[in-house]
Order: sequence, then C-alpha cells, then structure tokens
Amino acid sequence: MKTMTCKQMGGTCDHPITAATPDEMMALGMAHLESAHPEMAAQVKSMAHDDPMMVAWNETFQKTWAETPENPETPAAAETPEVAETPEIAA
Ligand SMILES: [Zn+2]
Repeated sequence: MKTMTCKQMGGTCDHPITAATPDEMMALGMAHLESAHPEMAAQVKSMAHDDPMMVAWNETFQKTWAETPENPETPAAAETPEVAETPEIAA
C-alpha cells in the first residue's frame, strides 16, 4: 500500500489517500475530488483522456506513484522486547 496526498495528485488539500495500485489510487483520488472538490472533478471529467493536460498529468502521477515508498507494514510482535528465555538446566 502507498499513501499520496490530494496535493500530490494535483489537488489542493493535504488529504491522504491510500491505495494498493495506481488504478485504485486514481479511482480513490477521483472519489475524493467528487466529494471535496466537485468543481475540479467536473473539470477533469470534461477533459478527453488524450488531452495533453491529462497525458501530462498521468505521466506525473505515474512518476510520483513510483517514487512513493510502500507504507511500512503494521509493526509486528518483534517490537516487544520480551526475551525472557529461561535457560533450561539439564539435570
Ligand atoms: Zn483534496
């Protein structure tokens, strides 16, 4: 999973969006636009997919996605320093 902000996707706020794939990120980004920035969403939807602006946006998005590091996994039990190993004394 990776997290990008609305701003990183060309938006205007710092709302974080987390997705597993670039396609999912685009879909979630669009959903965020529709709820938070409806006028921007309408503008994006009115553009053709091969519009130079959209092509440039897509290139930037793919680059940003590639440069965004994977989110760290939720810390495992390895964090807890519980090494209470009592050595068994063989009789
Ligand atoms: Zn936003």
